Amino acid sequence: MKSIVPRYTREIPQRARLEGAKCTKCGHIEFPPRRVCSTCGNREFEPVSLQKTGTLLTYTIIYTPSESFAMQAPFALGIVELDDGVRLTTQIVDTPFDELEIGKRVEIIFRRIQKEGHAGILQYGYKAVLLN
Ligand SMILES: [Zn+2]
Repeated sequence: MKSIVPRYTREIPQRARLEGAKCTKCGHIEFPPRRVCSTCGNREFEPVSLQKTGTLLTYTIIYTPSESFAMQAPFALGIVELDDGVRLTTQIVDTPFDELEIGKRVEIIFRRIQKEGHAGILQYGYKAVLLN
């Protein structure tokens, strides 16, 4: 039987709380959570809240995104390494592009990402802002 729970509903705990899965054997944190630890192959995890601060590893400016993000273009997309070692690909908001710099400190916030389809369901998720 096909699942009737929409994808965004299933993802709410991870998105809202930045919840990762910590391997009970080696301590590696998977985000998003997986069934098998990518480091040691263990299959047991415990939920863990990720750090909200990290460092900008790299970024790019997107000028021609897919249709659903067209209203937001241009925008910055970055890879952030959180202080617990987890890496996220996330939009960087509230920052002039010329202030973006690799190595700068960022904080993860929770904000609307896009509207989905004709129903206008708002999707929420994490984004990054620069810390001063
Ligand atoms: Zn492990």
